[in-house]
This record gives sequence, structure tokens and C-alpha cells, in this order.
Amino acid sequence: MQLNGRKALITGASRGIGRAIAIAFAQQGAQVALAATSADRLVETAAMCQEQNKLDVAMFGLDVRDPKACEAAVKATVDKFGGLDIVVNNAGVTRDNLLMRLSDEDYDAVLDTNLRGAFNITRAASRPLMKSKAGRLINIASVVGIVGNAGQANYAASKGGLIAFTKSVAKELAGRGVTANVIAPGFIETDMTASLDAKVKEEALKGIRLGRFGKPEDIAQAAVYLASDAGSYITAQVLVIDGGMTA
Ligand code: NAP
Repeated sequence: MQLNGRKALITGASRGIGRAIAIAFAQQGAQVALAATSADRLVETAAMCQEQNKLDVAMFGLDVRDPKACEAAVKATVDKFGGLDIVVNNAGVTRDNLLMRLSDEDYDAVLDTNLRGAFNITRAASRPLMKSKAGRLINIASVVGIVGNAGQANYAASKGGLIAFTKSVAKELAGRGVTANVIAPGFIETDMTASLDAKVKEEALKGIRLGRFGKPEDIAQAAVYLASDAGSYITAQVLVIDGGMTA
């Protein structure tokens, strides 16, 4: 197993991409700590992880926008597991609207969750990651953070910021052997995309060269690779996984 003995914290693990990453990590032998807006929402993912390995799962109901709650969750993970090797900042939201109609509230909600949230967790986790022999930071951004998207100025800004943030952290922590990378998914079938208009989906599909939407597992397998020893010489990179959508 590629992640035997590793301890991982994954935010946004109640469903979608975060859940798939948690299960894939557990399948590879990692002990996982899960975070989402409430601990109740994590029970199902925790059971799925325990089907993979019998290790105890930690669950944290928190708002990633709250720095104190993020600090407490990181500390509790380190106390419970005896360390922390892998952090995946995956929690994210969208509040789409055209620029002229984009409210202050929707702009801030997206920036605070997707970018500030990743900062809150990463700052709290930086010390334990530096102590680890194989520290890994994996931030889930989006192709929208690279190419932009009409109707998603707030989301694009948060994800573009997350890419720049990750590259900076990679430079800061490289001397301590910690890698920091971004996965930039394209269109993945989760709750986040389920509510999109059928016409929007149809148009999006036309632009995907591999002819299908991505699955959360497509992202999870890449996260395993970056977290494993196979990824130990990869840092400050953005791995686009979009079926050729932005090619
Ligand atoms: P999803 O199904 O909507 O799940 C979002 C997750 O984030 C949930 O676990 C949710 O917890 C958690 N979350 C949201 N706000 C939070 C907060 N303030 N504090 C703590 N947790 C919070 O989304 P997804 O599609 O799996 O997306 C996961 C990540 O991939 C996001 O960062 C997203 O931007 C990115 N991404 C997705 C796609 C796509 O096509 N789906 C494409 C590119 C990038 P609750 O269940 O408790 O609400």
C-alpha cells in the first residue's frame, strides 16, 4: 500500500471529491481525519474509510473560514494520530453570478471559504507537516482558476489565488522536505455540478475531448500519487485533470 502509516487530514470530506480522496487514501493504508461543516455529515464517509482499513477515523465539524476551529482540528488530529503527514484543502463553494450582479456577500463567501479556508488549515498544519518525514500539501483548485469563467469571477479569483498561494508555500517549505501542489479539476460529477442547467452541461460536455465528465475518483487517484513516495520530487506544480477540456 502506498500510504501505509501516513496520517492525512482532508477538508470537504463529507461528499464528492473530498470523500473520494479520503476513501482512496484509506485504501492505500492512510489514517484519515475528515472535516466538513458538521461531524454528522462525515459519518458515512468515515464508515467507507473504515471498510478499507480498520484504523480509527477522526471527524471534525467546522467552518474552514474560522481560524480557531481549523487550529483546533489540526491539533486534535496530531494529538490523536501522533502526527500529520498529508493535508488536502478541498472544501469549497460556488456562488455564481455575472460580475454586475455579484454581491459583496457572495464574493466574500467564496473567497473566505476557498482561499482563506485553505490558508487557515495550512498555517495551522505547517509545523506538523515540517516535522513529518514525508510532508505533503495538496490543494484542490480548478481549471477556472487558470482560464477564468464568465459568471464565476469570485470562484476564479479564489482558485487562482489558491494556485499562487500553494506555489509560495511550496517555496517556503521545500527546505523542510514538504511538497505543495495543486490539483485543478475540470468538470467533475458531484453535488457542486449537479444543480447546473442541462444546457450548460451539454455545452461543457462538447468541450471535453475525452467525451465524458470526470468522476471524483479521477481526482482521488491523482491525490494518492502526489501524496505517495512516487510524488516525492514533485512540488509547486498544478496538475490539470479535465479530460482535455482546457487543452
Ligand atoms: P461538493 O460536493 O459541493 O462538496 C463540498 C465540500 O466542501 C463538502 O464536504 C462541504 O461540507 C465542504 N464545505 C463547504 N464549505 C465549507 C466550510 N465553510 N467549512 C467546511 N467545509 C465546507 O464539492 P466537490 O465538487 O466535491 O468539490 C470539492 C472541491 O473541488 C472544491 O474545492 C471545488 O471547488 C473543487 N472543484 C470541483 C469541481 C467540480 O466540477 N465538481 C471542479 C473543479 C474544482 P458539507 O457537506 O458539510 O457542506
